[in-house]
Amino acid sequence: MNWEFNLPVKLVFGQGCAENCLQDLKELGTAVLVCDPFLKNKAEAMVGQVPGLVNAIFDDLSPNPDLSEVDRCCALIREKRPSFLIALGGGSAIDLAKAASVISQDRYPARHYHSEGRPLPQKKIPLIAIPTTAGTGSEVTNVSVLSDHEKGIKAPLASPLFFAKMAVIDPLLTLTVPPYTTASTGLDVLAHALEGYWSIHHQPICDAAALQAAKLVFAYLEKAYDHPDNIEAREKMCEASLLAGIAFSHPKTAGSHACSYPLTNHYGLPHGEACAFTLDLFTEINNDARLESLARYCGFLNTLAMTHEIRRLKKYMGMRTSLAEAGIKLEDLDDLVEASMHPNMLNNPVRMDKEKLRALYLRLQ
Ligand code: NAD
Repeated sequence: MNWEFNLPVKLVFGQGCAENCLQDLKELGTAVLVCDPFLKNKAEAMVGQVPGLVNAIFDDLSPNPDLSEVDRCCALIREKRPSFLIALGGGSAIDLAKAASVISQDRYPARHYHSEGRPLPQKKIPLIAIPTTAGTGSEVTNVSVLSDHEKGIKAPLASPLFFAKMAVIDPLLTLTVPPYTTASTGLDVLAHALEGYWSIHHQPICDAAALQAAKLVFAYLEKAYDHPDNIEAREKMCEASLLAGIAFSHPKTAGSHACSYPLTNHYGLPHGEACAFTLDLFTEINNDARLESLARYCGFLNTLAMTHEIRRLKKYMGMRTSLAEAGIKLEDLDDLVEASMHPNMLNNPVRMDKEKLRALYLRLQ
């Protein structure tokens, strides 16, 4: 087996490390801060302690960020000419900042790169990523997932230039995440771990990260959901999210993520819930000796027991688990199947064709 591993992101982890690192960032010059609108007050208070660090804040972004939002952020960067960017938020804020850090370096709109094939500029300004959800692992991947709502496309854009210069993971920042988002983002972590592990491109370093990430999710997600103030559970979920980000960084995701894009685009399921929608079924389909050993490592008797636990967790945490709950009509299933045949589906270890995928969705009646 031949493989490579390259993760050029400095990692800083721990309670309080986000505020503590800001003073040191002044060495880099002045930043534009890209932040989730929910966190704007918190962000202003944080950066206010280091006068001159931030010369503008961009918070005009939504979950599943749209290309138009990237364009507006690029306009601000071209105007303010910061020496670096700070992204504070969930995957949406970090992904938008990653794209803007590169796309702002030329004059074209984001759509040219996202769906029209223009090669990305080969320049960037550095990015410091500070995640506030335990979910996407975006702080350690070279992927930016963007939506073109006008064309109905949600798709990842990838480039080595998208790697952050530094990721600062502070579990204290996740204490305010409400239970529903804790559940959805936490299941995204599990999907990254499992899909990175069973992807046909899996490799030893990512496998090790996947095993530990999955084990942590099964041990701590429900605790974080039930007790949002439980800092141990929050910290362990941050650890899981980071490891799961590493787990899929090279193998990429597979079937559940491929299905998640139309489930979000056409039916409005938030990203993590959309990934979880088919995760237990892909766990059954992909069962083999390797997956059995992951299940045992996580404390289960076998893969079937792990599958039941994923299903139980989804229901317990209020995720939609049936076609009807997700608002999917049987007459629309062919379109959903078609849209789910995203290239990541090819990473699934069991080859999926439209017929098999349709049968999988029908099990969710
Ligand atoms: P998000 O960033 O969209 O945030 C979800 C919600 O949580 C928002 O309403 C936000 O305001 C709120 N929120 C965020 N932090 C909070 C906090 N600390 N307290 C209270 N509320 C908070 O959610 P996400 O799941 O982190 O990111 C999803 C996006 O990331 C999707 O577009 C998905 O496709 C993408 N993604 C990217 C990668 C990658 O490698 N780049 C991987 C997986 C997913």
